[in-house]
Parts: sequence; C-alpha cells; structure tokens
Amino acid sequence: MGIFLNSNRGPWPLFKQVFFLSCLLCLSSCTKSEPPAFLVELAGGKAPGPSKPAGSPETGSPGAHEEPGDGDMPDLAEAIARLSGTGGDTVPADVLLGEAGGIAPLSAPAETTGEGNLLGRVLDLSGLPRELRDKLGKAAAEDPAFVMDLLDCLEGDPFLRRLVDKTHPLPDGYEPRDLVELSGGSYHAGRPGLALRRQAAEALEEMAAAARAEGITLTASSSYRSYRYQVEVYNRNVREMGRALADRESARPGYSQHQTGLALDFGSIDDSFAETRAGRWMAEHAGSFGWSLSYPQGYEEATGYRWESWHYRYVGKDLAAFIDNWFGGIQQYALQFIHAWENQ
Ligand SMILES: [Zn+2]
Repeated sequence: MGIFLNSNRGPWPLFKQVFFLSCLLCLSSCTKSEPPAFLVELAGGKAPGPSKPAGSPETGSPGAHEEPGDGDMPDLAEAIARLSGTGGDTVPADVLLGEAGGIAPLSAPAETTGEGNLLGRVLDLSGLPRELRDKLGKAAAEDPAFVMDLLDCLEGDPFLRRLVDKTHPLPDGYEPRDLVELSGGSYHAGRPGLALRRQAAEALEEMAAAARAEGITLTASSSYRSYRYQVEVYNRNVREMGRALADRESARPGYSQHQTGLALDFGSIDDSFAETRAGRWMAEHAGSFGWSLSYPQGYEEATGYRWESWHYRYVGKDLAAFIDNWFGGIQQYALQFIHAWENQ
C-alpha cells in the first residue's frame, strides 16, 4: 500500500478513499457517459443507471458530485455499503489508483493550474493571493496530507466551514437551532443572555478549563447575535461613525459571523485584549480547541475588517488545524478555498 493511502495518521478510512477518488473522477470526467471502471468494480459490477438525456445541462452546483445515481456514476453509497460489508478497511492501491486519472491533476506542478486541473481550478476561483495559490498547489502535489486534511474539514456541519464575510451572507433568515445560554463554568460570562451553538459552547468550556489550569480566566463578552440585533448594532454604528467606518467595525445584517452562533468576542473587545494574559494565551492555544482568530492583524484587505484580537470563531479542531497548517493561520483564506472547492 502506498503512502497515499496510509499516512502517518493511520490508514485512511475506506469511505474517504472512495469519496475522494469519486469526487476527483466525477469532477474531472462528469461529461463522460460511462462511469469510471474502478467505481463499477467497487460497486460489485453494478450496472450504471440510465444515462442523462442528450444535451442535458451539466450542473456545476455544489454537492452535485455527492449525489450519485444521476446517470454518470454508479451508486456510490451502495458501493461503500457493499465494501464495508466485506470487513476490509482498505482496498488494494492498484484497484483504487489504477483507474484513477483524477490523481494526476493533484500531482501536477502548480504552474499547470487551469482547465482540466481540479485543484488548479479551485485555486483560481478562490481569490487567494497568487503567492499563496502557488504555494498550495505545490504543497498539495508534494504532500497528500493536504487533501486528507481537506476531506476531514468537509465532513459534518457545513456551517463550521461556511464562508461568512463582507460578500458572502448567511441564508436569509438564518437562525441556529441549538443555541445554549453561556452560564459560565470554567469561563466567566460577561453578562446574562449570552448564547452559542451547543458545540461551540462545549468547546469554549473545554478551552476555558485548560486556560484556567494555567491560572487564566477567559471572559465571554459578546456571542450570538440575531439578524434583528445586528440591524440595531450596525445602524447605531452608522449613526455614530458614518458608513465607511461602521463597515470596518461591524458587519451588515446577514453578513455577521456572530449570527452563526459560532463566534465569540472575548474580554474587553478592544485592542488592549491582545496584551492581556488571556489574549496571549488564546493567540497561542485557541486552535488546539477548534477556535480560530477571524480578523488577524495585517489582513484587513482580505477579511474586510480591521484587526480584532478578541473575535474568535469556532470552526472545529480539523478545520482549525487545516487553517494553521496550510493557510498560515488565516481563517479567511482557508474558508475562501473551501468555498471555491465546494462551489466550483
Ligand atoms: Zn465579534
């Protein structure tokens, strides 16, 4: 088995191997009427579904490649079910890789980005700085851990990885359903009525307990904000400082990370936080607990916001590691990349 399928993090689960390869193949060959041979083989020789009518438009919509059975692909879910029934955790590399023309684009040098190269297309769409695109193209070609880390981030709750910035709003009327009140625990709740989504609240408690063990108390100061509340905040800022400055300081309603129920402002909510013990501790350790600084210093052009040392977003441990390991800790860049990946 090659290194590709057995990283130093242990064997790659079967479903990821199949999912990864099927994504690549679907995206690189979805105009073909025949399904990839290896997928037919994985599906136990299952015949492909009816072909699409001639001339039917190819959709480029997100998730299209996750819906097998559209005539281009064998039933992937069934293939996985059949294979998991065999009790085997791995598939011979030549079975998976032998037909996998989709591997080639990722192994290609970054200079060949462009049409026909999945990663190249995504990087081109991502809007990332040229230098970073080149670096990522190269890194992904040299180290398959990049794609494995990416796939870890694509699992689970899509709102953890959802790009919410000046130009990418939340769905109309979005309101999280699992908000819980922050009543304090290892952290200090700065005022009553603070709330986060359950998983973020639990991650906050875990992080705060670790900080407390080092004699540091984290203070939660501002948390979930509803669309309606953000209208008030934004309008007040516009009244007090004018629209240009208000846009630097606060999000327009519908465009705020706080509306996700996953973002939290800590401590004083001003620049002095960076130099407090809590601020320094978080800058160093927040990522280990799945929290990511949203608006780092020097990246206003990318994020649209001035440096906010106090504003963190819970993204989960996989994505936090992905951001730190591959995007230099810049959440905005990683989310732009994932957005392009899921929408290309
Ligand atoms: Zn904030």
